Amino acid sequence: MKVRALGFHHVDDTLADYTSVQTSLFFDVIKQLAAESVFVVPSSKNQSKRDLYITFDDAYKSIYEPCIAANRKWGFTATIFVVTDYINKPNLWNVKAKYLRHHMSLTELHHLQSLGFEIGNHTASHQYLPKLSESLLHEEIMESAEKIKYEFGRSKAFAYPFGAWSERIVDIVSREHDIAFSTFNKSRNVDSATSKFNLRRFMVCGHHTPADVNAYLHGLDENL
Ligand SMILES: [Zn+2]
Repeated sequence: MKVRALGFHHVDDTLADYTSVQTSLFFDVIKQLAAESVFVVPSSKNQSKRDLYITFDDAYKSIYEPCIAANRKWGFTATIFVVTDYINKPNLWNVKAKYLRHHMSLTELHHLQSLGFEIGNHTASHQYLPKLSESLLHEEIMESAEKIKYEFGRSKAFAYPFGAWSERIVDIVSREHDIAFSTFNKSRNVDSATSKFNLRRFMVCGHHTPADVNAYLHGLDENL
């Protein structure tokens, strides 16, 4: 399955964290991509070589305004992976600068959904899944799937917290979802045989440039 996908966490000019990108970088990247790619979400039907998934893990408040602005300017849409226990709450699983890491509210998520963004499942409380027992694993994945289904409709996509997956996890995820994303940050040796429950993403970080994103996508095109 040929999938081009990028992942973001924060879009924030003040947060000093490697997972945070400056607003100007975010807009530069999206503007560049809008000219050459088609933004797709999990329920998109048409498959072309230009299809590109943009994803946001954790549904931080910092992405709300930039997403709306990019939607207005370039028809940008994306998939937002929600951690259901943290909706409208500060982040607690990462103790670094947790006061700066607030998660979006239901109202904000509903607004983005009304603009064409899709809500994906990123578990109930963002645990490292491989270490969980069978029953806890089931709870983490299914509890959030049910909450999302109730609020937004069925979540077609799943993202593994910390990108960590295994066959045991895929077995549960695949019962309720159509696709799942892990992470991957190398532009070379791209594995073209990834399954639809291990879709690789280039995670865009603060030190990257639009040229890095371009190099990744071109490398992917050559390798597939
Ligand atoms: Zn996450």
